[in-house]
Amino acid sequence: MDFKGRQAQLRTLFDTHRLDALLVSHLPNIRYLCGFTGSAGALLVTQAESRFFTDGRYTEQSRKEVVGAKIAVGKKGPLAAVADWLGSRRSRASCRLGVEAEHLSAASHARLKASLPGYVRPRPMPPIVELLRTVKDPEEVEKIRAAVLLGSSLFDQLVEVIRPGVLELEVAAELEYAASKAGAEGMSFPTIIAAGERSALPHGRASTQPIPASGFVVCDFGVILGGYCSDMTRTLYVGRPPTEARRFYDTVLSAQQAAVEMVAAGRSAEQVDGAARKLLQKNGLAKFFTHSTGHGVGLEIHEGPRLAAGQKETLHPGMVITAEPGAYIPGKWGVRIEDMVLVTDSGCDVLTPTRKDLIAI
Ligand code: ZN
Ligand code: ZN
Repeated sequence: MDFKGRQAQLRTLFDTHRLDALLVSHLPNIRYLCGFTGSAGALLVTQAESRFFTDGRYTEQSRKEVVGAKIAVGKKGPLAAVADWLGSRRSRASCRLGVEAEHLSAASHARLKASLPGYVRPRPMPPIVELLRTVKDPEEVEKIRAAVLLGSSLFDQLVEVIRPGVLELEVAAELEYAASKAGAEGMSFPTIIAAGERSALPHGRASTQPIPASGFVVCDFGVILGGYCSDMTRTLYVGRPPTEARRFYDTVLSAQQAAVEMVAAGRSAEQVDGAARKLLQKNGLAKFFTHSTGHGVGLEIHEGPRLAAGQKETLHPGMVITAEPGAYIPGKWGVRIEDMVLVTDSGCDVLTPTRKDLIAI
């Protein structure tokens, strides 16, 4: 779907939310709706038109990128420019203006309210654009696929770099250098390399700790390509894994496979989470699984839906989510395995091609 199609889709939701216009200030939402990739802008979508507001630094870039919206370049910040424009219109008809509650600070909201004419009433809204973004169109799926393949292609190099004595940060640096050389626009998030006891930290960002002579190494990373993020985790073992480690790894792998098998259009987010949790429960590891099973991925690394207990949201074809259960024994070790999957009518398409059996190095 092109940008105009996305804006049209957004307008179809105005009635339900009792809106005359939506002020989009979250940059990934702006990018999604009109193509702008810069760092300062606001998009005002009314029933009749769309207007994009930015400042002088983005005159050229906005002309090149923005589709489906009139561009207004001003000296003031984007939000002040929106208020000025709304105040300058001839029509004095009341206007119910939605603002993105999740992305507008209380101070910005107060300033906006003060500068708007009385007949424009700003109202904090739930994340409407984010909801549209959860279902990817075919072009987006292709971009995500390309990002996933690039991320996955770096994994082999990562395996080569991990050796006892090498710092976690060095491993991350090599990976990120290889990603840049391969054309990645950046990493989706700070790379996680967590070795030995640190593997029990679910978010163990690469540190100055050297890779130990033996133990698990959790590697969780992603690249950005064409604006879209990838996200994968593999856990390696340095040295010869004892039987207990193998068994632990295989249990997490079974939980990950159970989650993937549960993914299909019509199922709920919590069903996928439940599948992984049940498997770990059977093996006495449920209490060591301390995070949710997955999340949507797209222009941002963490998007809807959230795959966690109590999340009733139904999966739809075109959603791209992660399946990433893990188990972490404090002071000992941890394992996580993560793929990205595309929800289809009949089940899912696992996008991450990297092998999942335990690699010992
Ligand atoms: Zn990840
Ligand atoms: Zn993830």
